[in-house]
Amino acid sequence: MTQHIVIIGAGFAGLMAALSAARLRDEKGVSPKDLKITVVAPEPALVVRPRLYERNPASMVARLDELFAATDIDFHAGHVDTIDSENGTIGIGGSEGQVSSLRYDRLVVATGSHGFQPPIPGLSDFGHNVTDFEGAVALDRHLHALAERPSSVARNTVVVGGGGFTGIEVATEMPQRLREILGQDTPIRVIMVERGPVIAPDMGNEPRPYIEARLRELDVQTVLGSGIVRLDGSGVTLENGEQIETETVVWSAGMRASPLTAQLPAERDNLGRILVAPDLRVPGSPRIFATGDTAKAATDNDGNFSLMSCQHARRLGAFAGHNAAADLLGEPTLAYDQPSYVVCLDLGADDAIFTRGWSPRTVEITGAEAKKVKMDINAVWIYPPAAEREAAFRNAFEARTVDF
Ligand SMILES: Cc1cc2nc3c(=O)[nH]c(=O)nc-3n(C[C@H](O)[C@H](O)[C@H](O)COP(=O)(O)OP(=O)(O)OC[C@H]3O[C@@H](n4cnc5c(N)ncnc54)[C@H](O)[C@@H]3O)c2cc1C
Repeated sequence: MTQHIVIIGAGFAGLMAALSAARLRDEKGVSPKDLKITVVAPEPALVVRPRLYERNPASMVARLDELFAATDIDFHAGHVDTIDSENGTIGIGGSEGQVSSLRYDRLVVATGSHGFQPPIPGLSDFGHNVTDFEGAVALDRHLHALAERPSSVARNTVVVGGGGFTGIEVATEMPQRLREILGQDTPIRVIMVERGPVIAPDMGNEPRPYIEARLRELDVQTVLGSGIVRLDGSGVTLENGEQIETETVVWSAGMRASPLTAQLPAERDNLGRILVAPDLRVPGSPRIFATGDTAKAATDNDGNFSLMSCQHARRLGAFAGHNAAADLLGEPTLAYDQPSYVVCLDLGADDAIFTRGWSPRTVEITGAEAKKVKMDINAVWIYPPAAEREAAFRNAFEARTVDF
């Protein structure tokens, strides 16, 4: 009887899982008729989420149809609503309201994450985001529509809520992006509001002064120690009572794992990620693996854990897919590891900062050289491989084995 690996999600982790499973199937000389691999997602396309803060986010999508065809990976369009781990099936909703189900022998949950929206009055009505494709495209449309409105302080001001990695990338890209839309001489303001005492709280002390200097150079104002407590059509109110006139708020504070993780009977962290076993299996559900942003996995023996990052998602995905196939083919599963950790943070035109290590983070490259690395990462490294079987399998193998 045909065995079936089902992978939910066509993001970085889902794609690498599918390619890695197909690679092992190929290596073992097993026919796709005997071991079927199916990716379930709304579209056979990878949204390049790390680029959604850039201009023209609508173009940040890579089609996967040809790649799947070249590697004998099936695709099923739909949104998975239920996981029945007892009976080994998933329930899928289609775009026209139709409902179907798929049986699996091994399941890989790679449904990613979404931006966290706290219950701040007005946030859902007036806040924008760049954490998902639709949000980033809506923000872009809104920014372009500003050009049709009369110039005012509120029109020319963008407030970024949250001073973490995403907030900094949005804020440092925004001056140039706004001037291109509103005109080079328009008196624009970009204000980053961070509730904590410092920007880039996860970055540590060594990289922070460089980032702060860059924000000053770009004239991005920072308000620290006071969060946004209310939004309306004319602006935001901060905890300290200050009001900022603005017609554009970009909320960039916090991520949460896909809600599907809540359907698995396993322990989750405060971000909703499943605390997975070393081979990325979901504890208590021997036929299910969780990966990418849905999983929290130990990266080494020093107490570090995977983060919600593309860097971790690709490698986690490659291990999960390999292990799902290995488990069905009678091969031993492999323990995930990812000893190196680097961050390359975009700081607008011609600038970025590249750090290595968890704590402390050592600054390795800055300025135009780091920007070049960032553009290589964003425009080349994280894109899917060409729709060519051997190249695709090599890419998946390297995602699992090559360290930075
Ligand atoms: C603005 C921004 C900047 C970033 N910058 C960086 C960076 O510089 N470096 C870095 O390493 N990381 C960065 N990240 C984080 C990175 O994008 C994520 O960690 C990564 O996308 C996670 O990959 P994933 O495959 O787990 O999930 P995703 O990429 O979120 O993919 C999830 C997939 O699952 C599908 N899906 C979801 N729910 C369902 C369902 N119920 N049924 C079927 N399909 C479903 C989705 O359609 C999608 O195909 C950034 C993220 C953002 C938003």
